[in-house]
Amino acid sequence: MDKGGCLIVISGFSGVGKGTVSRKLVEKYGYVVSVSATTRAPREGEENGREYFFVSREEFLDSVSKNGFIEYATYVNNYYGTPRTFVETGLEAGRRIILEIEVQGALAVKKQYPDAALIFVTTPSAGELKERLTGRGTESQDVIDARMARAVAESEYIDNYDYIVCNENGKAEECADAIHHIVESRSMQVRHQKEFITRLKDELAGFSE
Ligand code: 5GP
Repeated sequence: MDKGGCLIVISGFSGVGKGTVSRKLVEKYGYVVSVSATTRAPREGEENGREYFFVSREEFLDSVSKNGFIEYATYVNNYYGTPRTFVETGLEAGRRIILEIEVQGALAVKKQYPDAALIFVTTPSAGELKERLTGRGTESQDVIDARMARAVAESEYIDNYDYIVCNENGKAEECADAIHHIVESRSMQVRHQKEFITRLKDELAGFSE
């Protein structure tokens, strides 16, 4: 059957482990992750071109004016955008492309690419989210409170997503497997198998001649 390219939009609360889940999808199933451009400063350990393309505001706005992003949004006073060329060439090449983006970007993608799978990754409970944010030990109480408040706001968007998947503590691989099953089952929908079906019908007709 045809393995057409598709966009998999993964959103979820800060601290939920989206990055780990995406990495599993890349390593285990050969998905690719789109690297966004951002105007925020790199964090320790981040590399230009790996986590993000770190650009100035001028460079970012120049790309916006050239239609270089399929969507972009501001998040905590910085711009983030999904590069158009990577997405378009990846889809043409039949790749499964992960966009790890926030809720407004996800909705903008869905408008332009109605076949995109919008997947919201969450912890099983709010208490567990708080525990994970606290357990990281790297964030101040203010930052933890801000992220929990943002989670409240983001939860309002969940109803616009196609799927909700839990990332239980220590079970990122199971979460990636669940997402892969979703993508596989979507690819088997008849509307995504037009070429295969036409070929099958032609072959059958050939046998009955
Ligand atoms: P962070 O600064 O923590 O890496 O990312 C902040 C938020 O921006 C996260 O929710 C992340 O998923 C989101 N984000 C990253 N890249 C993009 C993008 O290209 N577009 C949009 N809309 N959001 C993005």
